[in-house]
Amino acid sequence: MEKIGFIGLGIMGQPMCVNLLKAGYSITAYNRTDSKLETVVKQGAKRADSPAQVAKESDIIMTIVTDSEDVEQVILGQDGIIHAAKAGSVVIDMSTISPSVTQDIAKQLSKKDIDMLDAPVSGGDVGARAGTLAIMVGGKKEVLERCMPVLEVMGKTVTHVGTHGMGQTVKLCNQILVSVTNMAVCEALLLAKKSGVDPDIMIKATENGAAGSWQLSNLGPKMAERDFAPGFMIDLQQKDLRLALERVRELSLASPALALVNQLFSSCQAHGEGREGTQTLIKSLERLVNL
Ligand code: NAP
Repeated sequence: MEKIGFIGLGIMGQPMCVNLLKAGYSITAYNRTDSKLETVVKQGAKRADSPAQVAKESDIIMTIVTDSEDVEQVILGQDGIIHAAKAGSVVIDMSTISPSVTQDIAKQLSKKDIDMLDAPVSGGDVGARAGTLAIMVGGKKEVLERCMPVLEVMGKTVTHVGTHGMGQTVKLCNQILVSVTNMAVCEALLLAKKSGVDPDIMIKATENGAAGSWQLSNLGPKMAERDFAPGFMIDLQQKDLRLALERVRELSLASPALALVNQLFSSCQAHGEGREGTQTLIKSLERLVNL
């Protein structure tokens, strides 16, 4: 079995790492805040003091941190992976970051004969715990084939979507799809409610037809019950929408629905709701019409 390195034990990283341990992989792990390592160390992971130390001990090094600059820091920065990884090793970045930053990192790693896959995920903390994530992979096909057994422990679907950066591009497509659908769910719910239709009945009547979606079936009932606890936080969604809008601009495209939902989420953040779940979007539409 390949020796695995794991960097970033946050909401997503911790359960993903635990699943790899349960599958029998030998893991060296690092987290910036050392205390978050306890859970995985108790289950058999070896503790490392830096990303470089993880790289030194591993054949495949996985990262799942926050944004583009964080991935740059753990891979290219001081004590970063690039300074200690063996030639022939693979870095798999599972964070959601910029496709162009990903391409640049892959180029720098390849100069040292280190391969890279961008493999962002969808499915949230529930999917991370269950090992049922959707994983969208950019990079060389033969490198993915080598890493497939490892990725299949964490994901139900692992799809090769193209070369470096394309995994991140597909993840940004995913974020356009979820956020614009979320806005449609909010609008439909408000129309139902103001017309006197029970929102839960509207959801039941529509979710198995052409309008069915994960957002409608999962976020719709939460909106109806005024449950705004985060599954996926608005602040993180806004990071992803910023990345998608930057990519749209880089490609001289227009994405008006994406821009609108980004503005509505900004209003939520201005009202102190950034750490609530994305179903809180409905509050910004309610405020528009003083509901
Ligand atoms: P999180 O709980 O905030 O965890 C982030 C992790 O990254 C923490 O371990 C943090 O270390 C580490 N980190 C951040 N910046 C770092 C840096 N500069 N150097 C070293 N470590 C750094 O976030 P998460 O929810 O697990 O999300 C991780 C990634 O997955 C993000 O890109 C997110 O967009 C993506 N994602 C999340 C979800 C979701 O539902 N949560 C779903 C799909 C994709 P500390 O412990 O020291 O802060």
